[in-house]
Amino acid sequence: MSNKRTEISELGEFGLIDHINTRVQLKNSSTLKGIGDDAAIIDAGDHVKVVSTDLLLEGVHFDLAYAPLPHVGFKAVAVNVSDIAAMNAIPKQITVSIALSNRFSVEAVDALYSGIHAACEHYGVDLVGGDTTASRSGLVISITAIGEAKKEEISYRSGAKVNDILCVTGDLGGALVGLQILEREKQVYLSNPDMKPELEKYTVVTGRQLRPDARMDIIHELRELGVVPTSMMDISDGLASEIFHLCKASNVGATIYEDKLPIDKQTYDTAVELNMDPITCVLNGGEDYELIFTIDQKDFAKLEKHPDIHFIGHMTKPEEGKYLVTKSGTAVQLKAQGWKHF
Ligand SMILES: [Mg+2]
Repeated sequence: MSNKRTEISELGEFGLIDHINTRVQLKNSSTLKGIGDDAAIIDAGDHVKVVSTDLLLEGVHFDLAYAPLPHVGFKAVAVNVSDIAAMNAIPKQITVSIALSNRFSVEAVDALYSGIHAACEHYGVDLVGGDTTASRSGLVISITAIGEAKKEEISYRSGAKVNDILCVTGDLGGALVGLQILEREKQVYLSNPDMKPELEKYTVVTGRQLRPDARMDIIHELRELGVVPTSMMDISDGLASEIFHLCKASNVGATIYEDKLPIDKQTYDTAVELNMDPITCVLNGGEDYELIFTIDQKDFAKLEKHPDIHFIGHMTKPEEGKYLVTKSGTAVQLKAQGWKHF
């Protein structure tokens, strides 16, 4: 061991994952995809198993000052299901592990699990195991989700081709704007506990932050329409960041159009109220858990009329780079700011 010390912030989250992955050597032929996509893919004979795991820490990923425990439980499942959806697979089982400090009662655990059970109902998954342990610093939740698909149904990040159409579901930026509102109202409350938080007019954006829904509805609809995306991810770190991941994995460029970016009216209005640029919220806001995917042009007609799928641009040659065309027609280079955990 040398005495050299490297700060994790020098690598960043994705740099750290790459750093860990360089020492991983896959030994089993059943491991079809290891680290580097939304979930791992494991050959199970006539189908594949899809496995994803997430770790949520109190104070880092959620704040119990404004996040109700049932919502925390629901969200913990939803973000894992979202990664299974991102591979175009169907979730079947989850395991749930929790670490708790003595601040939490059995009633609090019940409240957390009420949200976990509601999500299991909603997504049709079985809770099949987990672990519980003590924690010195609040609540820690780790969930592993296991899904299934046929091998040919899986959409990797690496499958996008030049001229494929780039699609996103739902609307974007709401979870970030909701977080800003929740933080603002928390500060108001902390400075004056007699003040009642004013949240009634922000229920759409706070809902996006506190209780996101994985887009399994879209995965089922794509199957019914006979469309397999050429590449796909979920949008957890922000649209621009995810476009960079898709372009890198697929060795393509991308051009997107500002006037095609989906934003909810309440997200837009609240961003303006907070002096935030709504388009920046759409491009760099995290935690929306919508899907970003590419389709072959031949599949466009099948999705054209879908009310919740938006065609925001197309893939280009890698040397053409990654650009946003503004409403005035100017092409500006995309920057992947995304969420920085370190
Ligand atoms: Mg993901």
